[in-house]
Amino acid sequence: MDIQDLAKRVIAGERRALARAITLVESGRADHRAQAVELLETTAPEGRQALRIGLSGTPGVGKSTFIEAFGMFLIEKGLKVAVLAVDPSSARSGGSILGDKTRMESLSREKNAFIRPSPSQAQMGGVARRTREAVALCEAAGFDIVLIETVGVGQSETMVAEMSDLFLLLLAPAGGDELQGVKRGIMEIADLILVNKADGPLKETAMRTCADYAGALRLLRKRVYDPEGFPKAQMVSAVTHDGLPEAWETMEELVAWRREHGHWEKRRAAQARHWFEEDLRIGLLSALETSNARARIDALGGQVAAGELSASRAADEMLAFLKLASDS
Ligand code: GDP
Repeated sequence: MDIQDLAKRVIAGERRALARAITLVESGRADHRAQAVELLETTAPEGRQALRIGLSGTPGVGKSTFIEAFGMFLIEKGLKVAVLAVDPSSARSGGSILGDKTRMESLSREKNAFIRPSPSQAQMGGVARRTREAVALCEAAGFDIVLIETVGVGQSETMVAEMSDLFLLLLAPAGGDELQGVKRGIMEIADLILVNKADGPLKETAMRTCADYAGALRLLRKRVYDPEGFPKAQMVSAVTHDGLPEAWETMEELVAWRREHGHWEKRRAAQARHWFEEDLRIGLLSALETSNARARIDALGGQVAAGELSASRAADEMLAFLKLASDS
């Protein structure tokens, strides 16, 4: 594969080239990895930046309906929109439930939209890196907005928030007790809560739910990277499109403020640092699984089980074997 040529075509905005490039970064093969690194290093200097919007919500809350509506709304504004999905369950089931093109029919027909389903059969440790690399490729391809969708499961929300400039939490209208069900940690990373399905008979419940969340957000510690009055909770309807312009206005206001006050750059810098450490951690863990290391771990484990060696001394010996010192 001619990587320089592929890079050129990605930068020229060729969708098929972008799709191939993402397939390359998703591949687990060692030779593909080397090519992926070359590709990313060739496309990166373009320095194009998209607005990365993370979006989370439980199944059924209306994520795909919202992305379809919001994506079309952005495209009508003349923006190019890429949609990526992170689906932690596909790692187990081998199938993808997110990013399915049939769920976003109009958007998938738009030439200024690019929809990428969640890759299946992935190791969770590699999901973050692959998604980040796919985001970088979409940026290089000239997309203005990259939407990163995930279901509210496990670590995937935190992971997506760590690679987004804005993190949206989509919620459904619900009774008061269900408010408790939203984990505080998720509220703390949300930049905007959108109560979806604020239409028809659900509208009144949505208003109440929205007021409840707005109240809950006010109780959270003020964040330095937010202007007064943020984070907000607003109502939308992915079906009637009510509230979409207002939601976008809020996002633009927040982004403009963060850019002006240096928080945009700071957040990206902090995220880059975070991912460096995360990748390092994953690298160290996989170093434990090389055959040499594995044999040593098994031998030491045997001694620990037989009572010949204490657990902590065995760990120290293993770290010494890896030429790493323990900090205890
Ligand atoms: P996802 O699982 O989060 O991607 O949710 P979907 O987008 O597939 O939506 C789940 C269901 O909620 C579907 O039957 C949608 O038609 C419905 N739905 C989504 N958005 C809205 C909305 O704004 N209003 C109403 N009334 N229904 C909605």
